[in-house]
Amino acid sequence: MESLTRFADSKLDRINAANLHRTLKATGRGAPITVVRAGREMISFCCNDYLGLSQHAKLKEAAIEAIERYGVGGGASRFVTGNNPLYGELEARLAGLKSSPAACVFGSGYLANIGIIPTFAGDGDLIIGDELMHACMHAGARLSGAKTQLFHHNDIDDCRRKLDAHRAGHGTCLVMTEGVFSMEGDRAPVRELAALAAEFDAWLLTDDAHALGVIGDGRGSSHAGGDTIAVPLQMGTLSKAVGVYGGYLCADEAAIDLLKHRARSLIYTTALPPMVLASAIAALELIASDAELVAAPLNKARLFTGRVGLAPAQSAIVSVVLGDPETALNAAQALEDKGFLVIAMRPPTVPEGTSRLRITFSAAHRDAEVLALADCVAALLP
Ligand SMILES: *Cc1c(COP(=O)(O)O)cnc(C)c1O
Repeated sequence: MESLTRFADSKLDRINAANLHRTLKATGRGAPITVVRAGREMISFCCNDYLGLSQHAKLKEAAIEAIERYGVGGGASRFVTGNNPLYGELEARLAGLKSSPAACVFGSGYLANIGIIPTFAGDGDLIIGDELMHACMHAGARLSGAKTQLFHHNDIDDCRRKLDAHRAGHGTCLVMTEGVFSMEGDRAPVRELAALAAEFDAWLLTDDAHALGVIGDGRGSSHAGGDTIAVPLQMGTLSKAVGVYGGYLCADEAAIDLLKHRARSLIYTTALPPMVLASAIAALELIASDAELVAAPLNKARLFTGRVGLAPAQSAIVSVVLGDPETALNAAQALEDKGFLVIAMRPPTVPEGTSRLRITFSAAHRDAEVLALADCVAALLP
């Protein structure tokens, strides 16, 4: 007991000394995009609720109806009694939106990646990933046992060098990237990566957590150019623009079928609550039909970057890099004092020396709020 406390305290002392302590603050979220902390209401510029759908009346109604009909819990794994009929409808809608032959829904995006990656790569195989890919892609790569090499962020030439150097002598090969990078807000060169992977008999896996509902008419990074880029493994989450919770993979039927036999984070975990499935279906209906809504987050982000004088936003995420953790924390506090909640991102979430404000835009923000935030951020820049 005492040794456990001493162990934790000594680790925490180091974390505190580096300004890297984290606390969980009770935060109530409400419509349209406000948060309440310690009794104080603020406008949130750090939710991933890009379309404001987590507060949408249609999603709430769908959830309530599903609760009345099915209760609140999933009951068991999807392979036992948890495979509610709503799963079929949700997966068909996802596949349709992404013009993919098939889809499989997981409990979350994190669970999806740690199940997908070891399904398609293992001992003796190769993974080539963007150095800034999400923590759960790194976790999936580690779980897989495949040899993993990272390439410089969005650097297609470095990706080719890694493939040239390592592809031979390995079995399968996954090339992994995020469609829109969660901390940078920039986009991957998906078209070039898909062609490069195909050249080396490798499969591109894109994580579209921040692209679905925002980029490519809401259909994600493989639709961003107007046409459809052939990406064999398209993963994403239902927890961000979709406004609810869950993860998914879109791929061909054989790949999805194999997933159902191998992905441990699909098989050995409880199904999502039916209300989550019902709300996600309602959200996908809105994303497929409301072009104006889907265009809004990127437009708001560009309104912001234009006003501050930054390069035009490529997604709903704008990253303002400030350097050390203390500067980022002070900047976030200054914004909070003005009524804007923006979180400072620090290592290990972002690389050393790149602590930043990560600002996210939502269809639910009013232009006047975006401009007011822009003026406050501009005043903080050197
Ligand atoms: C948020 C996120 C995930 C995890 O999705 P959850 O549904 O929140 O578990 C995966 N990948 C990326 C890039 C993300 O930003």
